[in-house]
Amino acid sequence: MSLVVALKRIFKLPVDRPQLLVAQAAALSRQVPLLYSVVFVSAVTLAATHLRSAPIWLTVGATTVLGLACGYRTFNWWRSRHEPMNPERARRMLTSTIRSAYLMAAAFTAWSLALFPYGDAYSRSQVGFFMAITVCACILCLMHLPVAALIIVALALGPMVLFFWSTGQEVFQATAVNVALVGVAMVFMLFKHYREFTDLIASQTENTRLANHDSLTQLPNRRRFFLELDSRLSEARRVGGALVVGVVDLDGFKPVNDAFGHATGDRLLVEVAQRLRDVPEPALFVARLGGDEFGLIIDRTIDDAELLRFGKAICDLMQTPFDLPGVVAQIGCSVGFCPFPTGGENAQQLFERADYALYHAKQNLLGGDAVVFDGRHEAEIRELSQVDQAMFRADLEHEMSIAFQPIYDLGAERTVAFEALARWTSPELGVVPPGIFIRAAERSGQITEVTPILLRKALRAAVNWPMDMRIAINLSARDIASMDTVRNLVAIVQESLIAAHRIDFEITETAIVCDFEQARDALLALRELGARTVLDDFGTGHSSLSHVRLLPIDKLKIDASFVADIIHHQASEDIVKTVLELCRNMRLGCVVEGVEIDEQLTKIRDLGATEVQGYHFAKPMPETEVSGYLANESRARNGAAKRPSRHREKVLAAG
Ligand code: C2E
Ligand code: CA
Ligand code: CA
Repeated sequence: MSLVVALKRIFKLPVDRPQLLVAQAAALSRQVPLLYSVVFVSAVTLAATHLRSAPIWLTVGATTVLGLACGYRTFNWWRSRHEPMNPERARRMLTSTIRSAYLMAAAFTAWSLALFPYGDAYSRSQVGFFMAITVCACILCLMHLPVAALIIVALALGPMVLFFWSTGQEVFQATAVNVALVGVAMVFMLFKHYREFTDLIASQTENTRLANHDSLTQLPNRRRFFLELDSRLSEARRVGGALVVGVVDLDGFKPVNDAFGHATGDRLLVEVAQRLRDVPEPALFVARLGGDEFGLIIDRTIDDAELLRFGKAICDLMQTPFDLPGVVAQIGCSVGFCPFPTGGENAQQLFERADYALYHAKQNLLGGDAVVFDGRHEAEIRELSQVDQAMFRADLEHEMSIAFQPIYDLGAERTVAFEALARWTSPELGVVPPGIFIRAAERSGQITEVTPILLRKALRAAVNWPMDMRIAINLSARDIASMDTVRNLVAIVQESLIAAHRIDFEITETAIVCDFEQARDALLALRELGARTVLDDFGTGHSSLSHVRLLPIDKLKIDASFVADIIHHQASEDIVKTVLELCRNMRLGCVVEGVEIDEQLTKIRDLGATEVQGYHFAKPMPETEVSGYLANESRARNGAAKRPSRHREKVLAAG
């Protein structure tokens, strides 16, 4: 590096490299007390030997002023020692150190040289020694701020050398040469040390950058997101400001990744990141949290209505097709927001709540929704955590039971299976609906304990049923999330008295979206056992068709929501019709669930459904009622065989 560049690098504060600025200030501030003590104590010793010979203002007067100046600087340092160092503070501190270096070096030189004429030969040598050694100490203390060190060399060492040389006295001239040489060596060392220091900080900065960046999208990563959130939250708390935490989750990313390969998936994520970066909101901070999940911080006050519009705009942005090499990908996204301070207090809570809002956004059938965390969600969370607590204390083996709901075959005109539905009566909370406690157990992870208990109970009940009666068992995402839990379920089936081929395992799409590969392995293991696999709540998840194509699935269960408005909504009818056709083409079984009334049944029957389930036939019933129900059904069938009737199902329902 040329000298000019080196000098430039040294004389300019590195304001463009904030990390270096902060490191310099931090290193320097550790030396401040040492620096001023050395200067002050050395000055006192020099003044002491000149007390009798020099005027009092030059000895006592000058050292008092110096003492006050050093004391003032040290006090300032001491007072602010706990303040966090940021680039702005570092810049202020370094600038003021440079300014005081000019002042102190000039005063120091003037003072020392002013004392020179008063002493005898010994004292004059002491002045030389004092100047040289004190300047060396200052240079060492100022190693991290070379510009200040150079100022001292120029304003103290330079004049001293010239002055001593100009005395014409041999010993002083020799001293001057000595000091000049040492000075040059020190400046050389100073440059070298500073270069090493800047290199070290540069490599640390690079390491920090790597640790805080997502290498695929070049966005800040999860770690950085939380660091940023923490620091912006402290600032918001300090000034009484507001901010919003957002979580964006892509819908339909996995299928693109699975179908077109990881390179295309990566490309898509890069494009998504770019679109998020380009969102015209100056106060927005975007990070990639992992997978297809992105974190947002909106660093300003923003009301719920505006926030929802903002979220919707992001969803629209993601729904615009992505033109990737070889394929145009159509995805969507859901967004959850949680505002500070109204929605939560700390980073963890805000994030969890934004995630909770996201979970709600994902429930939206059509996808592409934004939800802001509110009081309703808070009540839900409180309820869930109460349920969590109660469940951890519960004796699940005794408190849990199973209700069975028939699945009816319209062709065979009889019940062909029962779905096992969990029931829990808690001594603390009373009857808790499965929609609540299953979800709580899924969140807390306790589901992996609950499912085996339920499975054993369900299989034990089925022992008393006719040999051709099937049983449908619901599994959660966690149940199939590891092969260990799957093997455990397989073992329970093998130990039971029920043949595996009589079992249908129902799995929701969301369970599959979590980890596609693992889900496929789990489904294969269940199939290998001899059981069948059912995709539950079909149509409520995303990109269902690709799942059906890529997974070992035997049957689909069309979600009740489509049946609920099949009478009034053509779209629902079309969906049911399409799915039924799809099942016929792909030779998949199909159950239509949630059939409540005659009109729905008629419509569904016309569309070609065979297996149906719903309150129209029977509500879930306790184990003890199953045999009576089946007996009623066969009685009604036999009776009906003799008396042709259009309303057999009604009779069954009454039974
Ligand atoms: P699901 O698997 O979709 O079960 C069907 C739900 O719809 C049951 O609610 C059932 O009682 C209800 N249902 C049946 N017919 C009708 C109808 O005609 N109209 C209406 N409106 N609803 C009907 P339930 O028992 O409250 O269960 C709710 C959910 O809890 C289940 O939905 C399932 O996701 C979960 N669940 C229940 N038992 C278990 C279990 O043992 N393990 C797991 N992992 N999840 C379970
Ligand atoms: Ca089910
Ligand atoms: Ca279902």
